[in-house]
Amino acid sequence: MTAQIIDGKAVSIQCLERIAQEVAKRKENHQRVPGLAVILIGDNPASQVYVRNKKNACEKVGFYSLSIEKPASFTEDELLTLIDELNENPEIDGILVQLPLPDHIDGQKVIERIRPDKDVDGFHPYNIGRLAVKMPLMRPCTPKGVMTMLDAYGIDIKGKNVTIIGQSNIVGRPQALEMLMKRATVTICHTATRDLAEEVSRADIVVAAVGRPACIQGAWIKPGAVVIDVGINRLENGCLCGDVDFETAKERASYITPVPGGVGPMTIASLLENTLEAAQLHDKTSN
Ligand code: NAD
Repeated sequence: MTAQIIDGKAVSIQCLERIAQEVAKRKENHQRVPGLAVILIGDNPASQVYVRNKKNACEKVGFYSLSIEKPASFTEDELLTLIDELNENPEIDGILVQLPLPDHIDGQKVIERIRPDKDVDGFHPYNIGRLAVKMPLMRPCTPKGVMTMLDAYGIDIKGKNVTIIGQSNIVGRPQALEMLMKRATVTICHTATRDLAEEVSRADIVVAAVGRPACIQGAWIKPGAVVIDVGINRLENGCLCGDVDFETAKERASYITPVPGGVGPMTIASLLENTLEAAQLHDKTSN
């Protein structure tokens, strides 16, 4: 069996088109366009690329986008004050602070300073907590993007064995909560997992979010399983690859995401969806 490739780029374009239509309707109704503020501290080249992509996506759908770039010397207090200002700014529906932050800034403190209704990354403990009790508000973007992609391909989740490799706050854990909300039976693997191959081989759906090339071998994949590769790894030759050994896994899986062109574009699409949802929420509270 050769797997069908899940085209995250194509699904993300459909999401962006839907969002652009909503923005056009808002303009027709003389409503504010959604506003996203993206803060970048320092000059990490990968972060610069991510921020540029987010800005371009905002422009494509017609959002107001505010890019704030500060030097690595920007202090934690200055950043918290900036967030306070954006929290109060009625033009801004979403605030995103690009991670990683310089070592002198406490990332968790920064995340918790963003008002939960403007936390379009979905990283605030309030938003993670709401997801845990099946009442999501702002859903973390990457796991949400994975769910949108599975839905777009008509892949059923209810009752399936889902194995997630990785337990980070931004991917693995919220992904498990998303899957649980769809009534999957969920296993989460991490560095203390005793037999990763065994856990993966029982899964109907595998989500890899580790950050290690070829960490998941094709031979472990149950024939017909769905494979979602969240990992983004840069090889010495400059190429990007995921966490799954794609060439061998695609011979056993029924569906598989490529890297690049799989989960990555969906993360940005979810960010824009969250910003639109935040604006809709603010419409109700500002009247
Ligand atoms: P992280 O480093 O915070 O977490 C990695 C997780 O993998 C940890 O929970 C760790 O326990 C687990 N792990 C590490 N080695 C393992 C092993 N040998 N066996 C089992 N588990 C192991 O990383 P993260 O922020 O969750 O990101 C994971 C990957 O996803 C990275 O490659 C990152 O670049 C990528 N990522 C992609 C997107 C996207 O939009 N596509 C978004 C976020 C992260």
